[in-house]
Amino acid sequence: TGIYHSLVKLETKHEIPTKLDLNTATLVLSQFSQGDLADARIAFIDLNTDHSVTYGEIRRSVYSLATALFHGLEIRKGDVVFLLSPNSILYSTICLAVLSVGAILTTANPLNTKSEIAKQVHDSGAKLAISAPEELHKLVPTGVPTILTSGTSDGKFLSVEELIEGCYDSHELPHVPVEQSDTAAILYSSGTTGVSKGVVLTHANLITIMKLLCWSADVSTAQDDVFLAFIPMFHVYGLMFFGFGLLCVGVTTVLMQKYDFQAMLVAIEKHKINNIPAVPPVIHSLVKHASKDGCDLSSLRRVGSGAAPLSKEMSLEFRKLFPWVELRAGYGLTESCGGATFFGSDKDAKAHPEACGKLIPTFCAKVVDIETGKPLPPLKEGELWLKSGTIMKEYLGNIEATTATIDSEGWLRTGDLGYIDENGIVYIVERIKELIKHKGYQVAPAELESVLLSHPLIVDAAVIPVEDEETGQIPMAYVVRAAGSQLTEDQVIQFVAGQVAPYKKVRRVSFIDGIPRSAAGKILRKDLVLQSKYQLVSK
Ligand code: AMP
Repeated sequence: TGIYHSLVKLETKHEIPTKLDLNTATLVLSQFSQGDLADARIAFIDLNTDHSVTYGEIRRSVYSLATALFHGLEIRKGDVVFLLSPNSILYSTICLAVLSVGAILTTANPLNTKSEIAKQVHDSGAKLAISAPEELHKLVPTGVPTILTSGTSDGKFLSVEELIEGCYDSHELPHVPVEQSDTAAILYSSGTTGVSKGVVLTHANLITIMKLLCWSADVSTAQDDVFLAFIPMFHVYGLMFFGFGLLCVGVTTVLMQKYDFQAMLVAIEKHKINNIPAVPPVIHSLVKHASKDGCDLSSLRRVGSGAAPLSKEMSLEFRKLFPWVELRAGYGLTESCGGATFFGSDKDAKAHPEACGKLIPTFCAKVVDIETGKPLPPLKEGELWLKSGTIMKEYLGNIEATTATIDSEGWLRTGDLGYIDENGIVYIVERIKELIKHKGYQVAPAELESVLLSHPLIVDAAVIPVEDEETGQIPMAYVVRAAGSQLTEDQVIQFVAGQVAPYKKVRRVSFIDGIPRSAAGKILRKDLVLQSKYQLVSK
């Protein structure tokens, strides 16, 4: 039939509840006291401050914060709460408290600019924002009521810490029933085309991915595991792993506010880290520098790689340098609520260094011919389509983008080109959607093009990815200058840099007489990508 089903059996050490009115937050909390998980166990340690929080403290803080949100701030079912914070030991507590009152969580990258934040606040319809103190200035102009994550009140802004303190004797959650189809989170992704859109994820989506990722015996790890988290919790990868999932299995996670190579090495040694969910640029740095730095990585048992492609060479090199460490690739999208494929066994991962693993249990896939739309047999390349209980409900308020991405049978078009072999192993070969990924972060060409077009001396522009060994990809702009204009590459770079988050910066510019477009006016990006490759070679 051309449809591939997951061949991985779901083995779980935990009993998986199947009640239909389950709230993601109450489900996560209910796991804390299961089996031999003790309340005194440490859930998170902040690498910078050494502050830590136990599972018991998280549970009590969620009760208190949920009570304050519901009774004090009148946050109700369906209200959107915007969270703007780097990884912190309070992050999970905030997410769980928001969900437990039936509210909807939306998260953003703290590197985003004021106008990027304002767009998301407006688009998501946020009723309340919760902000790290250093990011508050980006929220004030939006006018949305805001509380701080930490700190004491200066009379103007309450903080989460104060709210928790104020409701310290709450011993239960406000009773707010939810349905599985209710929205739990709105995460932002540009999908296959255009600008960032709100990916609407339901409680069913979140609960399904947690069951699959964290409770399957293959992935969930022993309770003596110590994870390192620099993957940000505002992104689906970090949110599902660290924000919710790993709390269900009782690991300890050391948190980094932002990725720093040297700090990572110190953390591994100091906290005997054995498990790091990572992205390809981190693997790249470990391969290039760690073996020379004489640091002790002996505690490491497993490193994951996701969010962007990892080359076969890098994968082999890593295994050669760190033979005691398993390297497990995985693949997924915000639209599939995170993971869609993974390697359950290291034997498989080792034997297929260029692959992304097998379909996660319950996932189905099709590889579709881009020209004819027909499903293809094993080993043939085409667009990967996915179906699973984890696929998003829709793009918020955008029926057109939703129907262009999810077909009437529920198949999600990933915009990724790949193939599946006879053993069900998935290979991602190329990205055919517009999306650029810089260090694993999303950069939407359409967004940069609209910034470029706002320049009075630019009459047309197109942005494409250029492959980059260290960061994955960098955005390059093709720019048509107004007649007689002497605009320079540097001026264009500075102009864009002044308006977007640092990871979205245009890093290379080429001037051109006209942007190649189809008859329908669509930018012919493939032609520009080819041209850029030619330019690089002939430089
Ligand atoms: P995001 O929604 O930010 O998680 O981005 C999803 C996209 O990242 C996918 O559609 C792929 O293009 C890319 N991606 C994620 N994981 C991998 C992987 N293991 N190999 C290649 N590309 C990946």
